Amino acid sequence: TAPKLVAGNWKMNGRMVHLEEALGIATASAAAGDEVDVLLCPPATLLAPMASALTGSNTFVGGQDCHANQSGAHTGEVSAAMLVDAGASHVILGHSERRRDHHEGSADIAAKVQAAWSEGLVAILCIGETEAERDAGSTLTVLAEQLSASLPEGATPENTVIAYEPVWAIGTGRTPSVAQITEAHAAIRAHVPAGIRLLYGGSVTPQNAAAIFATDNVDGALVGGASLKAEDFTPIIDALK
Ligand code: 13P
Repeated sequence: TAPKLVAGNWKMNGRMVHLEEALGIATASAAAGDEVDVLLCPPATLLAPMASALTGSNTFVGGQDCHANQSGAHTGEVSAAMLVDAGASHVILGHSERRRDHHEGSADIAAKVQAAWSEGLVAILCIGETEAERDAGSTLTVLAEQLSASLPEGATPENTVIAYEPVWAIGTGRTPSVAQITEAHAAIRAHVPAGIRLLYGGSVTPQNAAAIFATDNVDGALVGGASLKAEDFTPIIDALK
């Protein structure tokens, strides 16, 4: 079975000076050895310098989005091929902040997953319900719909990771109960090919990581705020060992 995966999504944070944190995280990743895969997804401007700073480490570097096309007249966009050029091995796709800020729909996301696969990138597909959807009792329906519309045929444990990120848990300090994570991850497991790693994301901290990682069908985490500093991310990596 694949190692557990802990991924840091730096979102729109991180400048050259923060490569220092990446080096500290790589030290924790080296100490975790083969048991844990560690991935950092910095803003596009930091991808190449981070990949070069981490050369020889076992920490992977990934993008936070890519365009569905590999090149062309799309001002401001970055393609999967460009992420590969910069040293990326993975790309986060369908994050709720992109669905919200850039009106990405499931069909757009499915096209991006295909583009990532065609360049050999591992797609980390994010899905998750809003608070209104949870309150309405439609969480599992929403997850099933997002998966069927945004995950193309051809997903394998080698090319795809699914991140369950309840929108209401992102950056709020609120996390689902273990029972809620168990229910969501079991439902996701039933809808994806066997062996695909399922990450939990949303307000993961050094304090709650161990309990989340002990939950059935949780193969790691997608971490936002707590991935920015080595002192916060290291105990999360260690909790997965
Ligand atoms: P936080 O860990 O800051 O809640 O962010 C989660 C997230 O959106 C990771 O992609």
